Amino acid sequence: MEISKFKRFDMLKKPIRQRHFLRPLTWLLSFPAVLAHRVKITKIGMQGVKPPYLLLCNHNSFIDFKVATIAIFPHRANYLVAIDGFIKREWLLRNVGGICKRKFTNDTVMVRHMKKVAQNGDVIVLYPEARYSLCGTNAILPESLGKVVKLLKIPVVTLIMHGHHVNAPFWNMKNRKVKNTQAVLTHLITKEEIAILDYKEINEKINTAFQYDDFAWQKEQNIRIDYPDRAKGLHKLLYQCPSCRTEYHMMSEGVRLWCNSCKKEWEMSEYGELSAVDGETEFSHIPDWYEWEREQVRQEVNSGVYRFESEVTVKSLPNAKGFIDLGKGKLIHDMKGFLLEGEYEGSPYSVKISAKSLYSCHIEYNYLGKYGDCVDLNTLTDTYYIYPQCEHFSVTKIALATEELYKVARIVPAAVSPAH
Ligand SMILES: [Zn+2]
Repeated sequence: MEISKFKRFDMLKKPIRQRHFLRPLTWLLSFPAVLAHRVKITKIGMQGVKPPYLLLCNHNSFIDFKVATIAIFPHRANYLVAIDGFIKREWLLRNVGGICKRKFTNDTVMVRHMKKVAQNGDVIVLYPEARYSLCGTNAILPESLGKVVKLLKIPVVTLIMHGHHVNAPFWNMKNRKVKNTQAVLTHLITKEEIAILDYKEINEKINTAFQYDDFAWQKEQNIRIDYPDRAKGLHKLLYQCPSCRTEYHMMSEGVRLWCNSCKKEWEMSEYGELSAVDGETEFSHIPDWYEWEREQVRQEVNSGVYRFESEVTVKSLPNAKGFIDLGKGKLIHDMKGFLLEGEYEGSPYSVKISAKSLYSCHIEYNYLGKYGDCVDLNTLTDTYYIYPQCEHFSVTKIALATEELYKVARIVPAAVSPAH
């Protein structure tokens, strides 16, 4: 069977208003977590603000959904959720107000659905970063966001949450039970301002509001995390050694992070800071190390030599029933963008995504605790979970390269010369 024959998820189905009988359930699921972490919710300029409005939240872990539910209590909402979240629970997700979207795709159907929610007088909840933050700092936001705001003509409210990354970082999601986390609900752009500002000015306002750094927040708040495995998994994020510059040979365990190539070691303190066991501490602040890695990738991109190629295994998600195993394939990521090629039951297929059409991509570290690291690529009709099979690689680097390739492709088209 050709993969184009798979039954697709129905993206056209109109959003459902949250069912009344399910609303207490969403609250019941949310209040205990908010109480357990003693979340402090601050509201700025929210007096008199009633739905409909567009709620933009930063995204660090699953608890974000719970805090957002309580922050807008008792109002009804619809949520834009990636299809990955819908697997085998489409009914429930639709009935609590979920709207299915494929990550990092632009589509006009979504805007139509959002307009419908606004007409219903409800809150539209959107996580514009479209994935969990990799190291507790803001991720790139889509340029289309300002245009969507112009089309919707409803107030924009932001919910910036602090402490959710250090509580359960994407690279090791164990709940550290951090207390006194914070959430700030701000009426960022009024309806009147939307009429006056152009979409670029709106984007600027949103981008400014979305500046956050969870590790800096931890230090400022003097929050101690004594979890004994607190550095475990950190090598997924920090894949390049700043001392000998070797990639893909970092490892972590307990409170330690080390390089298997030059053997340098670092320790992570209870306040989230790194220090070298011997010699110079290159980066004590984790996001600084990550941004340094980005800088290395940017240099490869700028000199036109960035390239990754690997045999991969592929799973596809054409609908919400579950993954379909597409078997082996080949992934190339280079100056042109992504090219995935494979064969399913004798029929070849290929998925091509140009660098300038994709501003970021979603990755997973050891997906669901057993499937390994993967890159998630989306078209409007399909989602591919792609697992590289080579021995040494980093999906973090692929994600960084996606963002840097996009910047170069958009800003200086002439600088992108074909690498093959
Ligand atoms: Zn090293």
